[in-house]
Amino acid sequence: MKCALCQNEDAVLCESHIFPEFLYQDVYEGEDHLYYAFSSNSDERASRKRKGVYEELMCRDCESIIQRYEDYASRVLYGGTQIAVQQSPEMITISELEYARFKLFQISLIWRAGVSKRKEFRNVDLGLHAERMREMLFSSSPGEPYEYGCVLSFLPNAHELMRRMILVPDKAPSKILGHTCYRAILGGLFWAFFVSNHLQDFPHREAFFSKEGVLRVFRAAAPAMKFLQQSGSDFMKANSEFIKQINASTAAATKENNVAERKCL
Ligand SMILES: [Zn+2]
Repeated sequence: MKCALCQNEDAVLCESHIFPEFLYQDVYEGEDHLYYAFSSNSDERASRKRKGVYEELMCRDCESIIQRYEDYASRVLYGGTQIAVQQSPEMITISELEYARFKLFQISLIWRAGVSKRKEFRNVDLGLHAERMREMLFSSSPGEPYEYGCVLSFLPNAHELMRRMILVPDKAPSKILGHTCYRAILGGLFWAFFVSNHLQDFPHREAFFSKEGVLRVFRAAAPAMKFLQQSGSDFMKANSEFIKQINASTAAATKENNVAERKCL
């Protein structure tokens, strides 16, 4: 079968996870690895699911290419590599990161959702961008910061809830500042993946991960908040009953944990 990354037609494909296991580590509950999965498609309501999402996508060599990006991102987000962290009221700034590996990790998340044939990702349609992303990933070329730039944010008041949720990439209902955007909640963070040809004109390019290795994680405020609220209301509409149930269970957990920050933050 054809490998999605090297495109070898006769590849033996591995059962690849669409999202790396480490992004699920906070959402797994207990030994049975259940987690909450949300969708803003009302016909796919929230559910408790088991394990990650798997699919035969890539050959072993290509898996290991992606694995290199993932291993690094895991150490950045969950500890294991040296980073510098600065806090301000607006954002958490993480510096001294390796631009190529973390940027390619970000691209790999949205690319995998785009090339997946699973129904969870049916509204991720990357069009010609899928091929450009594939080339970048396969040749380890991270491109300019604005190319498939991603903006990360979190909700300080609802961090505990977000840590326990997975929202797979989902196309935002309207363009953001004229650009197609996919939103996701992974690893307790809100990810906004911009997929567009003209992001060099994006007015907030400093929000993207920089070539100097500076990653900004915004405390949701102002424009980000509006976007999050819209996403939140879409999910609530699709999953209102289910959210009531998890609110009750999360309230109990939050009391004990006192808003646990990410290990690196
Ligand atoms: Zn391959």
